[in-house]
Amino acid sequence: MSMSRRTILKGAAVSAAVAAAPMIMGAGHGTPRVVVVGGGAGGATVARYLAKDSKGAVHVTLIEPTRTYYTCFFSNLYLGGFRTMDSLGHSYGKLASEYGINVVHDWAVGVDRDKKTVALAGGGAVPYDRLVLSPGIDFVDGSVPGWDLSAQNRMPHAYKAGSQTELLKAQVEGMREGGVFVMVAPPNPFRCPPGPYERVSMVAHVLKEKNPTAKILIFDPKEKFSKQGLFQEGWERHYPGMVTWLDAGFTGPLEEVRPEAMEVVVGGETTKADVVNVIPAMKAGRIADIAGLTNDGGWAPIVPATMQSRADENIYVLGDAAHQGDMPKSGFAANSQAKVAANAIRGALTGSKVFPAKFTNTCWSLIDTDDGVKVGAAYEATEEKIASTSSFISKTGEDAALRKQTYEESIGWYAGITTDMFG
Ligand code: FAD
Repeated sequence: MSMSRRTILKGAAVSAAVAAAPMIMGAGHGTPRVVVVGGGAGGATVARYLAKDSKGAVHVTLIEPTRTYYTCFFSNLYLGGFRTMDSLGHSYGKLASEYGINVVHDWAVGVDRDKKTVALAGGGAVPYDRLVLSPGIDFVDGSVPGWDLSAQNRMPHAYKAGSQTELLKAQVEGMREGGVFVMVAPPNPFRCPPGPYERVSMVAHVLKEKNPTAKILIFDPKEKFSKQGLFQEGWERHYPGMVTWLDAGFTGPLEEVRPEAMEVVVGGETTKADVVNVIPAMKAGRIADIAGLTNDGGWAPIVPATMQSRADENIYVLGDAAHQGDMPKSGFAANSQAKVAANAIRGALTGSKVFPAKFTNTCWSLIDTDDGVKVGAAYEATEEKIASTSSFISKTGEDAALRKQTYEESIGWYAGITTDMFG
């Protein structure tokens, strides 16, 4: 035989190697490596899409400290009694077993952009060719005088879902008869613009049943808020006299909160409260700052067509942490941005076709049983920002059947998008 078995096998191995050859110039190693920090809405999606679409041509590591991710989206429905906490939990088993993603349960504590490594709290460093950060938000220290993380058990934020949300629910359910619930609302920009107001609706829903003489006060630094007309109409209709929204132009600024005394001081007046939900000002998750990617506002500017950091072309920033333009900071938006980034990263690493960036978002909110509303938009990438191209919003005075349909649509969305993220 002129051609030995060994030669044939060797030839096959060479063609396989050529077919799978990584396109990274000068990387000097095998399969290109993408490291994703944060296994939430943006991070889980980008990891899954990269692993799924590259079919082994890209090696994906996902760094996430928690073993179960509880979605903030629909956590207000948990507060209202429409969902269980378990139904909001998602684990990483399928990303590892079905998509071959290397899931590392640890905190990323440093990024060496020259060496292209991510340092882990548990020790060691993970090398990358491309890095994706989707760390969500952290709170701005001192933005609510008198409050810091040591006070979160007295005055929960419940703006990262899980034990904080459970605590807030227990506090609401344990309120004395006729008690006062105060929300300290956040300034722009913040995660989920309708989130605080959907929360008020869900708390009112619980109080209407269990404690109908209780009151809800919202102290808001903003002059207006997302879906304001829809929420205010809904509060009047479902919870008349229970909810009072006060903006700082009317009350004067928030001066301080006193967690021990359960007091909130606004415009020189002290309010004694039974439950205080403090939602502080926000910034990008700390690792974006540690990596040196954030602006003065604390957010990480990105290139809209790819979601690459403006400070480092080898790093992509997704979701809440990104300073990107017109999209709200939502789970839907993070998922949409993650698909754009996955496509761009795969293109850069394997030479696959990169499609023009298109983004979409819808934010649903539940005001009372079967009374769902929504706001949404489509977006495109311009040089300067992710720019809205068309938008829609529910209308005041809509009939009950349409509102129910909108709520049902949101349930379908939740099931679909969490499968899109976690498999
Ligand atoms: P996240 O989903 O928060 O994920 C960040 C992950 O990064 C976390 O798992 C965290 O553990 C991890 N992480 C952080 N730092 C590190 C580190 N150093 N190392 C490793 N891992 C790290 N959005 C909607 O679309 N629809 C809704 O109805 C909706 N409702 C909401 C209601 C509420 C009350 C809230 C608070 C939010 C809501 N959102 C909603 C917004 C949505 O939850 C966020 O916009 C979305 O989760 C952002 O995704 P992300 O990937 O940027 O961050």
